[in-house]
Amino acid sequence: MSVDIAEQATTHGNLIGGEWRAARGGETFDSVNPARRSEVLGHFARSSKSDVEDAVAAAVAAQPGWARTPMPGRAEVIARAGRLLEERKEDLAQLMTREMGKVLTEARGDVQEGIDMAKYMAGHGRNPVGEVVPSELRDKRCFTERVPIGVVGCITPWNFPMAIPCWKLMPALLAGNAVVFKPAEDTPLVAIRLAEILTEAGLPAGVLNLVTGYGEECGAELVEHPAIRAISFTGSVEVGHQIAATCGRLGKRVSLELGGKNAIVVTSDADLELAVDGALWGAFGTAGQRCTATSRLVVERPVLDAFTERLVARVSQLRLGDGLDPQTDVGPVINPTQLRRIHSYTEIGQKESARLLVGGSIATEGVLGEGNFYNPTVFADVRPEMRVAQEEIFGPTVVVLPADDTDEAIRIANGTRYGLSLSLYTRDLARALRAVDRLEAGIVYINAPTIGAEIQLPFGGTKWTGNGHREAGTTAFDEFTEWKTVYIDYSGRLQRAQIDTPKE
Ligand code: NAD
Repeated sequence: MSVDIAEQATTHGNLIGGEWRAARGGETFDSVNPARRSEVLGHFARSSKSDVEDAVAAAVAAQPGWARTPMPGRAEVIARAGRLLEERKEDLAQLMTREMGKVLTEARGDVQEGIDMAKYMAGHGRNPVGEVVPSELRDKRCFTERVPIGVVGCITPWNFPMAIPCWKLMPALLAGNAVVFKPAEDTPLVAIRLAEILTEAGLPAGVLNLVTGYGEECGAELVEHPAIRAISFTGSVEVGHQIAATCGRLGKRVSLELGGKNAIVVTSDADLELAVDGALWGAFGTAGQRCTATSRLVVERPVLDAFTERLVARVSQLRLGDGLDPQTDVGPVINPTQLRRIHSYTEIGQKESARLLVGGSIATEGVLGEGNFYNPTVFADVRPEMRVAQEEIFGPTVVVLPADDTDEAIRIANGTRYGLSLSLYTRDLARALRAVDRLEAGIVYINAPTIGAEIQLPFGGTKWTGNGHREAGTTAFDEFTEWKTVYIDYSGRLQRAQIDTPKE
């Protein structure tokens, strides 16, 4: 399954009821390489309402049979998918770099997350799915069990084209749901490869359906469809809140993983070398396009100059380029719209009189001009209320905010509408543990940057970042199952809870 040039011309359909079909309207859209916009990776079905209806109908038909398949059998399919992902890891990583831009090492990590999730979920196929709970009455057995929700819609962003779909699809499928999957329009090809793998692994026709296309044209239809019982969404706050409003109106379950404005706090006793390493990786990995990317550095004044100098020296050395080139540190950003948006934040920062230390421009030298490259950017003298300190930029831009002491630094770190990932660097154990108590986020790191989640732990954010759900870990099943509570009375008479007391 190597990705060759011939594939560039291929037109790909939707996966509906086990068949690959063109969109009913016959229209397509292209996926292009963000490092070289002239390279088209393929043409993809531009789906609309009728395609979504077909996909949902196929899922509705397939779901009861899949739910009746014993869970260890469902887990076996996930395990086989994991093995196929592992065999094809390198090809998939290279494809991902071409479709989405992240450097190859990170693309391998993205596929590895999918592999890890498959193995983890496959293991869960033989785990308990409920509890036996004592009854207050005699001859009465009470237990709970998790049951599938039915047909769920999974809508994903482009920044983790393999990991995020696996985080959703694998637990949803293992739990016995059928899925309609709507990947981001910038990364349809990696999504199609994943759907092919799950099909090859033995998923029955219709259990997983995939529709490609634009959010407003087919994503919104999926959310509205009456047979979709739950939506699992990862993406922007704007779209997430819109989806939540629709699901509220229609009485559907919705889980949201939205944006972040994550911060690293560098205290006066931090190991500065370690903190600079963390800041670089956190802010410029995936060109800053991670929901957990470090976009604020809150630095205590005694180490402000030393930290900032070291940081800027290292940022100036970062090499921009095609993620397939092993020399590249920072790849392109996803598309020209995002490139312009990132640059608009540089202009906003300058208007707000933040001090631009490095970067701040679209890179156009040589071949970089053929792609969407932004020079890694650092702003200093940033105040907490500035827009560059409050709004998610989603690009290779980081802002430095001074703080008088750790209390103020933690207040600043907590002072946004987001609550995904916060980090603090210190050598002092008590300071570290106090920070764990006080940082307001779904994920807290000590002496590590804001990125680096592992799939066996819950993942998600507080405040604007989410709505209380957590992906990954065992909490993944909360998203994709309903609890059923079962009472079995074998006393042979009417027993009234709260009223009758058992007699000797
Ligand atoms: P986006 O919200 O624009 O799109 C996400 C998905 O939603 C895409 O598949 C898109 O087609 C679809 N969509 C768009 N409009 C829709 C609508 N009206 N109805 C239904 N679906 C619709 O986000 P993006 O630009 O792809 O991703 C970047 C954002 O995702 C950032 O804000 C980032 O922080 C966030 N993100 C969050 C997490 C997390 O776990 N918290 C992880 C990765 C990315």
